[in-house]
Amino acid sequence: MTNSTKIKKLPAFSKRRRTGQSICPLDGVEIVREGTGVSPGIVIGRVFIYDTLLKTVPQYKICEEEVPAEQQRFLNAVQDTLHQFDVILDKAKDIFEGDPLSSLFDVYRHMLKGSRLIRGVCNRIKNAQINAEAAVQTEIAAIADVFATMNDSYISARIEDIRSVGAKIIRNLQSEAKEKKIHLPENAVIIANDLSAADTALLNLKKISAFVITGGSAQSHTALLARSLGMPAIVGIPDLMRIAQTGDIIIIDGTYGKVILCPTQENIDLYRKYRSDFLRWKRSLKRLRSQPSVTSDQVFIRLKGNIDLPHEVDFLLQTGVDGIGLIRSEYMFLNRRDMPGEDEQFEILRTIASRMEGKPITFRTFDVGGDKSPDILHTPKTENPALGLRGIRFALKTQGLLKMQFRAVLRACCFGDIQILLPMVTSVEEITTAKKLLAECAEELREKNIPLPDQMPRLGVMIETPAAALEVETLAGNCDFLSIGTNDLIQYTLAVDRTDSSVAPLFNPLHPSILKLLKRTADAANTAHIPVSICGEMASNHRYAAVLIGLGIHELSMPAINIPMVKERIRSLSLAETEHFANRLLSLCMPSDIVKTFNDFEEGARFY
Ligand code: PEP
Ligand code: MG
Repeated sequence: MTNSTKIKKLPAFSKRRRTGQSICPLDGVEIVREGTGVSPGIVIGRVFIYDTLLKTVPQYKICEEEVPAEQQRFLNAVQDTLHQFDVILDKAKDIFEGDPLSSLFDVYRHMLKGSRLIRGVCNRIKNAQINAEAAVQTEIAAIADVFATMNDSYISARIEDIRSVGAKIIRNLQSEAKEKKIHLPENAVIIANDLSAADTALLNLKKISAFVITGGSAQSHTALLARSLGMPAIVGIPDLMRIAQTGDIIIIDGTYGKVILCPTQENIDLYRKYRSDFLRWKRSLKRLRSQPSVTSDQVFIRLKGNIDLPHEVDFLLQTGVDGIGLIRSEYMFLNRRDMPGEDEQFEILRTIASRMEGKPITFRTFDVGGDKSPDILHTPKTENPALGLRGIRFALKTQGLLKMQFRAVLRACCFGDIQILLPMVTSVEEITTAKKLLAECAEELREKNIPLPDQMPRLGVMIETPAAALEVETLAGNCDFLSIGTNDLIQYTLAVDRTDSSVAPLFNPLHPSILKLLKRTADAANTAHIPVSICGEMASNHRYAAVLIGLGIHELSMPAINIPMVKERIRSLSLAETEHFANRLLSLCMPSDIVKTFNDFEEGARFY
């Protein structure tokens, strides 16, 4: 998305006086920025700039008699830090349980219990006769130096953890940064360059209503946290820390990734309305839950949910979905330091299966690589990760991880209807190799007398590369279902990096090439008599429902939050009108004509 700046008349109440470092060239006007919305919802609140970087650390000498007291001051700060970690874990117990964030806190807490860090700092205070803050800083630097010589990406990640924990202790040593001194305004909108799980320990979650992270991505800790807490969040607004000041009024639209700083009264009124619409719509979840997902001419459109983390099932169930169309299994370990083993994955799947009460569950094998390369996998850094060892390529190269996932699914299939989805497929050989490995896994379990389902799980393929879409007839003949990943299909077909905001306007789901590939995929699945769905973001935008249904795709999978709106849209359409509409779009070759026709349809035009 693009950054944009609008200048409007400033209402008296939001006039700001900027002081000190502010370098905003548009002092005293409303400022609009767009980033990436990673958790939906609208908030009108007050900015709280959360600077997680430590400024100056005081350094001074102490005399010998002061050593015990200084060591005790340090140990008290450690206890404060531990307590803060406990408080946040306690507050978010239901949310964090069993998910990657809680294991991060375990790592942090482990470091604070009799570790080298603690012993080292106490020794430095005594031997060098320096204050606790200086001792923490030098001890952290010494540990980091040792780790740095190991040249290991896993260890590098640990260095960051150690630094982060050290920074918390120093904060607690510096009384002005103690938790009790962080006065959050009511309805606080936290703006930070980055926010680790540990940083949140210093904040009172009850007072926070939204997050904006100037860098970050949809899979950053903050995004996970915000989604878990149901708070709006936006990432990727690089200059916001410079132009916003604590106390400023700010509007956050997490659905569309929009930030309005010092909004005009007109925009405050508008967003108050949007906010009440949003809240009303959220309440309408309940009403729509029991309504069938059918077109006005009674054609059933299957709606499924996408989940990244297991606890999202709860929210999904509130929407009355027909199953889970995508579990992005790589999220199980993107934010943790160890690999979930076969048993852990089996347990997660078994729990999800028990919650879904027989409804189908689509488990996508690890789609690592691209912008999802966890340190623990030691994937080498390459020039073009999106074109590298990603998805099924990585899985078939390493095989061990894939087989572990296959065994977990095979075992869990005894408890529910679970199907396997392979990411980033480009050729039929990848399917046949995966099938062979799946059969091997079944054999291994059989030999150990581990119960297996009566039937092997269905094996499906993501259609998310142009190669897969152009070979879809062959792929469809060799698998049990297709799922279209429009996020990557658009990225690879249009050569538009999905993570690069400078080319975001070119990321066009209605591009004629995309419509043709969607149609071809739908036709191939229908000819092969196998189901086809879309699990990319295109399915979650209600505006695309008509074209997708018209192209022959009658199964859509999306985040829970989008289901009611898409369902409402489906119920307002007839299959016949969507088919005529899709055919009209397919007949056009100019992207601008397609957009115009699309907008005309939105405004009521019909194409019989
Ligand atoms: C997609 O590419 O559309 C998709 C659903 O997969 P992911 O977004 O996880 O790459
Ligand atoms: Mg994808």
